[in-house]
Amino acid sequence: MQQITHDVLIFGTGLAGLRAAVEICIRTKGAADIGIVSKVQVMRSHSVCAEGGTAAVMRPEEGDSLELHAWDTVKGSDFLADQDTVERFVHTSPDEIRLLEHWGVPWSRREDGRIMQRPFGGHSFPRACMAADKTGFSEMQALYDNLLRYRNFRRYDEGFVTSLLLEHGRFAGLTLYDAPTGEFCVLRAKALLIASGGLGNLYGFTTYSQTVTGDGQAMAYRAGLPLEDIEFVQFHPTGLVPSGILMTEGCRGEGGYLRNNKGERFMERYAPKMMELAPRDIVSRAEMTEILEGRGFPGPEGLDYIQLDLTHLGAERINKRLPLIREVCIKFLGLDPITHPIPIRPVAHYSMGGIEADIDGRTKVENIWAAGEAACHSMHGANRLGCNSTAECLVWGGITGNQIAGYLSSGASLSPAPEAQAREEEKRIFEGLLRQTGTEKPALIRRELRTLMDRHAGVFRDGKSLREGLDQLAGLKDRFRRVSVEDKSRIYNSNLIQTLETANMLELVEVLLLSAVAREESRGGHARTDFSVRDDARFLAHTMAYYTGGRPRLDYKPVTITAWKPVERKY
Ligand SMILES: Cc1cc2nc3c(=O)[nH]c(=O)nc-3n(C[C@H](O)[C@H](O)[C@H](O)COP(=O)(O)OP(=O)(O)OC[C@H]3O[C@@H](n4cnc5c(N)ncnc54)[C@H](O)[C@@H]3O)c2cc1C
Repeated sequence: MQQITHDVLIFGTGLAGLRAAVEICIRTKGAADIGIVSKVQVMRSHSVCAEGGTAAVMRPEEGDSLELHAWDTVKGSDFLADQDTVERFVHTSPDEIRLLEHWGVPWSRREDGRIMQRPFGGHSFPRACMAADKTGFSEMQALYDNLLRYRNFRRYDEGFVTSLLLEHGRFAGLTLYDAPTGEFCVLRAKALLIASGGLGNLYGFTTYSQTVTGDGQAMAYRAGLPLEDIEFVQFHPTGLVPSGILMTEGCRGEGGYLRNNKGERFMERYAPKMMELAPRDIVSRAEMTEILEGRGFPGPEGLDYIQLDLTHLGAERINKRLPLIREVCIKFLGLDPITHPIPIRPVAHYSMGGIEADIDGRTKVENIWAAGEAACHSMHGANRLGCNSTAECLVWGGITGNQIAGYLSSGASLSPAPEAQAREEEKRIFEGLLRQTGTEKPALIRRELRTLMDRHAGVFRDGKSLREGLDQLAGLKDRFRRVSVEDKSRIYNSNLIQTLETANMLELVEVLLLSAVAREESRGGHARTDFSVRDDARFLAHTMAYYTGGRPRLDYKPVTITAWKPVERKY
């Protein structure tokens, strides 16, 4: 089997991975040899879909402050965020905005020429820097352009990482199925950054691209790295019905209303001060309550909905600030938001949890770092504020890039080649999974798994339903042993890739449901109807899940509190 060696491997080329790659190039003056892996073409990473903005304090003189951003983030997290991490984040994100300004992001501008910022949920000051409603795309473009100034990297586009291998407790290699050639190889390096994104596709109704299946988390977990706070999934309040496409929070940031079937702006009853711009967990629960109590609109496929009303904003504002939203509504629904309200409901959107990483992005393994949505630093705690995620990707892309550059220059060495393990992995996939002839279709199992998650681990949860979800999961895992990959060829075998992804998803769903059952309280995005209040005495703690080969072992670790004692959240 071919072995290819680099100084460092970047697993994932979204905002976090690209930002780290650029930082390593800068810090090492282009000397480090970087391998960059993505299962899709670089610019098709989910980060290009980010719409609404990136949070940073840019105008202290107009009343914003780092303390206020930190407080909003900590309160938004329902006090589960590690506060030292949050403080580092708010201090660093303004620099990232300025860097991207220099690197070519066309930030939307105010009349006076300064970077425009719009209001976003849970932020008490307009903090979302944006490039209209295509922010992620512009940021990715700028980072990629910058990377091209260096020649010291090799891209593995459409290379699917199947496993993460350690030798003597250190990172030794990634096994890669290179879809265009059908080759299977080992990528070795002195250091690894996992920046493989979120896990949105565990749900059927999601804003995420089909590719976001939590592979990095599942592989890290199997390799012995703990997963932190996986039960916390964010439901965004405005997913387009019935596709789930995101209608950015920028719609409400620009002044959009949410209305029930009586025409009421119902947020008055749930968050009288912040109304539509309360944090996402609160708005999503309010919408579900309206729907469950019969004040929604009947929708297709059982997807009853609420209306997002932009009609009072006027054509000019919508065309200038929300052009993508208008285009998507017209193309997907034949509906023009200038004249008609948009049908929306809560949709699975973000994973607050991930691979445990410290404030420098370091994992439990000496030469592995994690950044972006795959990681849990933990700065979002139980609920992330809008536009804090792209900012987090940039901040920790920069931090981990810097850390890794330092590590490389301190004489880091390669671990022994993980040859035996890699051969095992090749056998598992090409002699096992690909050859076996079973009766089960992987696509069906995947679909049923996602429906299970929609039903049993949604906006509202309870112990009985979560346990039913676990029982059904056991059935799906059993059926998965008998799957048959229909396409037996080596080249561009998307059937095989989706089967490998489904295996990862099955693993993560088990961790998520078990962590959710164990957390007998309601906090942020985790709302239990059978334990409806926050329980700081028992659960002001991060859930840690460890791989055992069987059911995960759960443990807890304390939250870092520096300045802000937990209080009741009111908006
Ligand atoms: C529609 C949408 C809109 C959003 N809008 C905003 C916003 O306005 N503001 C905000 O702050 N946040 C927003 N978010 C959230 C934010 O965009 C994401 O959290 C963030 O972009 C994630 O970036 P990342 O670098 O961690 O991963 P991603 O951009 O998801 O990239 C993951 C990378 O890992 C690679 N990868 C994964 N698995 C494998 C594998 N097995 N083998 C090889 N490669 C693999 C992928 O190919 C990809 O390159 C939005 C999210 C969505 C879905």
